[in-house]
Amino acid sequence: MPKKILIVEDDNSIRELLVELLQGEGYLVVSAVNGLEGLKCLEVQPAFDLILIDLMMPVMDGYSFRTEQMKHPKWSRIPVVVMSAEANAREKMKNYGVTAFLSKPVELDTILKTVEQYS
Ligand SMILES: [Mg+2]
Repeated sequence: MPKKILIVEDDNSIRELLVELLQGEGYLVVSAVNGLEGLKCLEVQPAFDLILIDLMMPVMDGYSFRTEQMKHPKWSRIPVVVMSAEANAREKMKNYGVTAFLSKPVELDTILKTVEQYS
């Protein structure tokens, strides 16, 4: 069974690149443009193996997404990998119990290795 990955990223070019990259490696990929859309994806199909998420997004950012995700038993166990260029984001995310933090710009190879390791 291929692993299922949810990508939540508002930047179109980054999101599309990540979708292509992970699909090319054989993952099943669903993508969302902000945290709220990401939560809707979880409602429809909660069985993701990993969530790859940006922090700074309109409508609902990565912090709020993670807060909501942790409230739901079915969702809270899904590993979350955060990608951000925001200063202090790594420090701030310590209270959010994420699995891994990647500083943008992220090398594609690093993304692949991290997704493979935690999904
Ligand atoms: Mg963003």
